[in-house]
Amino acid sequence: MTKIANYINGTFVEPISGSYLDNVDPSTGQVYSQVPDSDERDVEKAVEAATNAFKSWSTTPAAERSNILLTIADLIEKNLDKLAMAECVDNGKPLSLARSVDIPRAATNFRYFATAILHTSSEAHFTDDLAMNYTLRQPRGVVGCISPWNLPLYLFTWKVAPAIATGNTVVAKTSELTPMTTYMLGELCSEAGLPPGVLNIVHGLGNKVGAPLVAHPAVTTISFTGGTVTGSSIAATAAPMFKKLSLECGGKNPNIIFADADMDLALETSVRAAFANQGEICLCGSRIFVERSEYDSFVKAFVEKTQQLKVGDPLDSDTNQGALVSQAHLAKVNSYVDLAQQEGGTILTGGKKPQDLPERCKDGFFLEPTVITGLDCNCRTNQEEIFGPITAIMPFDSESEVIDFANSTKYGLSGTIFTQNLDRAHRVAAKLQSGTIWINSWMLRDLRIPFGGMKHSGMGREGGAETMRFFTEPKNVCVKLNNDPNNV
Ligand code: NAD
Repeated sequence: MTKIANYINGTFVEPISGSYLDNVDPSTGQVYSQVPDSDERDVEKAVEAATNAFKSWSTTPAAERSNILLTIADLIEKNLDKLAMAECVDNGKPLSLARSVDIPRAATNFRYFATAILHTSSEAHFTDDLAMNYTLRQPRGVVGCISPWNLPLYLFTWKVAPAIATGNTVVAKTSELTPMTTYMLGELCSEAGLPPGVLNIVHGLGNKVGAPLVAHPAVTTISFTGGTVTGSSIAATAAPMFKKLSLECGGKNPNIIFADADMDLALETSVRAAFANQGEICLCGSRIFVERSEYDSFVKAFVEKTQQLKVGDPLDSDTNQGALVSQAHLAKVNSYVDLAQQEGGTILTGGKKPQDLPERCKDGFFLEPTVITGLDCNCRTNQEEIFGPITAIMPFDSESEVIDFANSTKYGLSGTIFTQNLDRAHRVAAKLQSGTIWINSWMLRDLRIPFGGMKHSGMGREGGAETMRFFTEPKNVCVKLNNDPNNV
C-alpha cells in the first residue's frame, strides 16, 4: 500500500509522529493508501526550509524561475494519464473529467504564471519636476497555501504556481482526503529542478497542519480555498497577526432562466452546472430559477436529462457522475435529501444510491443526481451549501423578484443568467451579488480575470494581475529630483 510522504526541503520524509491516516478510494469504500498524520513539528521544519530558500529564490532571475515552472507544466502534461488516474481514485470523480479538466488545468496554471512574470511592468509617477515615485513589487516571503479536495491538483496549483513564480517560497497543505496528486507533484518539481525548500508540502488534518501553518509567525501570507466556516477561523487567526489573506470559500449559486432564453442551451448548461464533478464544485448552480411561463416544461425536460446521466464506476469512459468524496460527506449530502422533504420539497428524481452499480463499487459513496421542487427560496435547503448532486428548481414572476431570490443567501460566489435580451443580461448581472456572472454559459474561465466571491464566499481575488499583486508587496520609492528650497 502506498505510503504518502511529506515533501520538505526537496526530499520526501515521514511525518515526525510516525503516524498515518487511512486514505480511502470513494468509489470502492476501501483504504488504498496512507497519508501522513503530520503536526506542528512538521510544519516547523517546512517553514524553516522555506525561510532558508527564500533569499536565493527571491533573487533568482525571472527567466530562470519561469523556465523551471514551464518544465513543471511539461512534466504534468507528460504524466497526464498517471495523474488523472490518481485524482480519480483519490476523489471519486470520473477519470474522463480528471483527464480533461483537473490535470490539464493544473499544467495551465504553471504555464500561465511562468509567462506572466516575464511580462509585468511597473509605473513611475512624476511630481512635476520635483520628484519621481516608483513602486517596487517584491515577493512577500513564506506563503501558506491551503486547498480543498474537490479539484485537488487544479486548485493547489492555482495558488502554488503564482506564489513561487513571483519569488515567494511556499508551505502548502492539500486536503487530507485527496493527497495523492500533490504528493506526485513534489517528485515532478524536483525533476524540473525546483530548488529545495521553494515548495514544501505537509500532509495531514486541518487542525493539526493547517491551523499551525496559519498561526506560524514566519508565514506572511495565506491563500486559502475551502469552506466558509474554515475560512472564518483562518481569518480570526491571521487578522491580528496582520497577515495578507485571500479566502476563496463556499457558494450557493443562482442559475436564472428567463422565458426568452435559448432553452436547449439553458437546459444542457444547467444540468452540467448542477451535477458536474458530482455537484462538488464551488461554482455549481444549485438553485435554478425559471420564469413561470417556462417552468413546467423546463422542469420536465431537466428531470429527463438528469435521468440520462450515468452514475457509476469513475473508471468507465461513459460515466458522467462518480462517487462523492467520503462517507461523511455522503452522509451530509444525504441529510439534505431528508431535510428538503421535511421542508415541503418534492424529490422528482434521485435522492438514493443507484441500484445498478458494478460489483467493485457496491460499497462506494454514490448518490443519484437529485432534483427537488416545491421549496421556498428561504428554507435551509436553499440557503446552505450542500456541495453535492442536489439541485432545487423554483419559479419566478419578475426580474426584480428573481434578483431578490438570487441575492437571498449569505453567499456570493457566482451566478448564471440565460436570456437573449442583451439589456436585461447586463442589467441583472450588475445587480447580482456574486463575484462572477456567466451569461448564457457556465464555468468559462480566463486566467486573467479576478476570481473570487462576495459576502461569505470569501475575500480578496485571485487571477491574473490580482494574483501577482496579492503575492507581492508594493514598496514606494520617492526620489527627489531638484533642490528647489520652495519645495519640501
Ligand atoms: P474545508 O474548509 O473543510 O477544508 C479546506 C482545507 O482547509 C483542507 O486542506 C483542510 O484540511 C484545511 N483546514 C481545515 N480546517 C482548518 C483550519 N482550522 N485551519 C487551517 N486549515 C484547515 O473545505 P473542503 O471540505 O475541503 O472543501 C469544500 C469547500 O471548499 C466547499 O465549501 C467549497 O465551496 C469550497 N471551495 C471553494 C472554492 C472557491 O474557489 N471559492 C473552490 C473549491 C472549493
